[in-house]
Amino acid sequence: MTSLPLTPVNPDAPARRAAMPPRHLADFDLAGRQALVAELGEPRFRARQVSTHYFGRLVRDPEQMTDLPSATREKLADQLLPTLLTPVRELACDDGATHKALWRLHDGSLVESVLMGYPDRVTVCLSSQAGCGMACPFCATGQAGLTRNLSTAEIVDQAVYLAGVAASGAVAGSPPRLSRVVFMGMGEPLANYNRVVAAIRRLVAPAPEGLGLSQRHITVSTVGLVPAIRRLASEDLSVTLALSLHAPDDELRDELVPVNQRWKVSEVLEAAWEYVARTGRRVSIEYAMIKDVNDQPWRADLLGRLLSDRLAHVNLIPLNPTPGSRWDASPKPVEREFVRRLRAAGVSTTVRDTRGREIDGACGQLAAAEGQ
Ligand code: SAH
Repeated sequence: MTSLPLTPVNPDAPARRAAMPPRHLADFDLAGRQALVAELGEPRFRARQVSTHYFGRLVRDPEQMTDLPSATREKLADQLLPTLLTPVRELACDDGATHKALWRLHDGSLVESVLMGYPDRVTVCLSSQAGCGMACPFCATGQAGLTRNLSTAEIVDQAVYLAGVAASGAVAGSPPRLSRVVFMGMGEPLANYNRVVAAIRRLVAPAPEGLGLSQRHITVSTVGLVPAIRRLASEDLSVTLALSLHAPDDELRDELVPVNQRWKVSEVLEAAWEYVARTGRRVSIEYAMIKDVNDQPWRADLLGRLLSDRLAHVNLIPLNPTPGSRWDASPKPVEREFVRRLRAAGVSTTVRDTRGREIDGACGQLAAAEGQ
């Protein structure tokens, strides 16, 4: 096994006080928007009108808001829909089924989102932070450190923008409606807890308050911040929790997911089982398959013992090697044996498809390439 020096990590470290963006409609619920509109000297019903354009019709251009008097249009768009995300690059691959967007934020930070089309659904992968403070050594975002938390609207706007791309019919071979959201882009969503939960509320609120997605179709992926998992379990939400385990033993997980130095495998799994008990939702266990690092048969067996008889599903992710990394994906026969052992232990297991590789699709690589 490759041995790395342990990376110290402080999960409670606040994001550097970087400039947050201007306020935006998606930062507020409908009542908050009505109050804001009233402050701007407009009738409260304008909040619903602008919300219908933004969330219902996926329109943000004031010219297209023809039900508003023209002077009001400009004022409300200016105050409620400031530009948060400026596309730097938009790329498509997998014959048009995958679209990746790299955005520049108002302070120059770069984040990315990916839209993935399937025959029956369209999924968007969102970023929750600019950079990430969790320092997982195999992850491109983890190498760069944390710049700042994204605002609620910066998170939501990624989904609304890409829902518009889907609605234009640009995702080949897929329905034109965004149906799923995964928080698997840049950042640790549970380290930006309040804004991420507010963003989820916008995503699931019916139009015109929000995008009207199903809670069950939203997945929050975490390194395993135990108190935040417990807190999420106590919200009246039933989103899917994905836990980035990557190793079944503390010795290796301390290296691969440095926050494990604070909350051990047994503690993080306990929190996951509490989440299952509170929400009735099956937990997804993420496991990047890294050649000769975490892919040994004995680790599959140990993982199988930890998960058998639990409401859990294992998602094996072929490692996407980051530039300059000495790690590689596990060979297919090794991966197959890992799957076989987990299934033999009664654990439901699948291997994630690897979308967007040719456009640095996964794991912070596009932003990393742009920043070089
Ligand atoms: N911070 C959250 C969400 C972001 S990453 C988390 O860690 O869960 C989403 C998933 O991609 C995580 O399981 C993460 O460990 C995994 N990942 C990151 N870099 C990867 C890489 N180079 N190859 C494969 N999976 C990777």
